[in-house]
Amino acid sequence: MAGAALVGSSVNACSNFDKNIKTISNSMMKLSYKPFDLQLKHVFTIASSSRTTTPVMLVQVEYDGVLGYGEAAMPPYLGESHQTATKFLQQVNLSQFANPFLLEDILDYVENIAPGNYAAKASVDIALHDLLGKLVNQPLHKLWGLNPTKTPNTSFTIGIDTPEIVIEKVKEASAYNILKVKLGRSNDKEMIQAIRSVTDVPLCVDVNQGWTDRQEALDIIFWLKEKGVVFVEQPMPKTAIDDMAWLTQNSPLPTIADEALQTLGDVLPMKGVYSGINIKLMKCGGLRSALKMITIARALDMKVMIGCMTATSCPISAAAQLSPLVDWADLDGNLLISNDMYDGVKVVNGKITLNDKPGIGVVKL
Ligand code: MG
Repeated sequence: MAGAALVGSSVNACSNFDKNIKTISNSMMKLSYKPFDLQLKHVFTIASSSRTTTPVMLVQVEYDGVLGYGEAAMPPYLGESHQTATKFLQQVNLSQFANPFLLEDILDYVENIAPGNYAAKASVDIALHDLLGKLVNQPLHKLWGLNPTKTPNTSFTIGIDTPEIVIEKVKEASAYNILKVKLGRSNDKEMIQAIRSVTDVPLCVDVNQGWTDRQEALDIIFWLKEKGVVFVEQPMPKTAIDDMAWLTQNSPLPTIADEALQTLGDVLPMKGVYSGINIKLMKCGGLRSALKMITIARALDMKVMIGCMTATSCPISAAAQLSPLVDWADLDGNLLISNDMYDGVKVVNGKITLNDKPGIGVVKL
């Protein structure tokens, strides 16, 4: 079984990656992958769960001596794992494609191998985009015609915690121009008041479906607006469509769908229910799908945010290539881990700062 022998080495440092990888071989493109566990710097708590690690699958596509890097980041709530990603990637046979520039054909094939598996699909999508950029020696944002000076600030995420720890985390995040605050348990106002005791930077909040009463949700959104909050992400359960439409209609702040949508076909039903959408490569299957989702959302006059999972600089830098197109970015997932093995796109004075490196803009450390 391709890949099965790798699972036991999933927590090893990446130095053995090149020796240990299992190759799905072909005459032209070679796909390789390795399970790995990212270590989080702090216990990460949101409305529904806490955790200290994130399983990822490190992926490479090699063509003509050039390596494209990709990654599947798989927080447990999305339902993918080392096992599911291994099973999916075992089925990806790139040998039938002699030309890596036929990206639409290749990604249509990958999309149709099996339903779901969006993080695993994203890992291949990212690696192929990285490969193409490297083959023509240009960064993706340049190939897409995007202005690198139009990147947004990225928010830095503050998880749910006691006021003392929240204040410590906010002090550590002084380089950021916007903070994303996780709400949705019983201490929402306490969290915001703790943050406001030490900083005046704009805030956004992510409730992760934690509010269940629409009138109470509206009341706290008015209070949050007074506290300098600029938007509210996934305030109510994703199934509460009528309540969400009412809340969006009455809310003084934009509402952003996150858990409520996953991929391309989910964008249109968000119109009238939320003000905007949070696109993540791991939810939607990669850069190709993300670009199309941005186009659809703009056609619907909706706001666009690009977010991430905890991940290495590989998928974060890939997402950053799209960031000149979005209103808000939440691309701090690489900053929350202690074992990143890539050097990529940086946050400088709180702003995403693209580099001139080809492809997704990363080098392996
Ligand atoms: Mg969210």
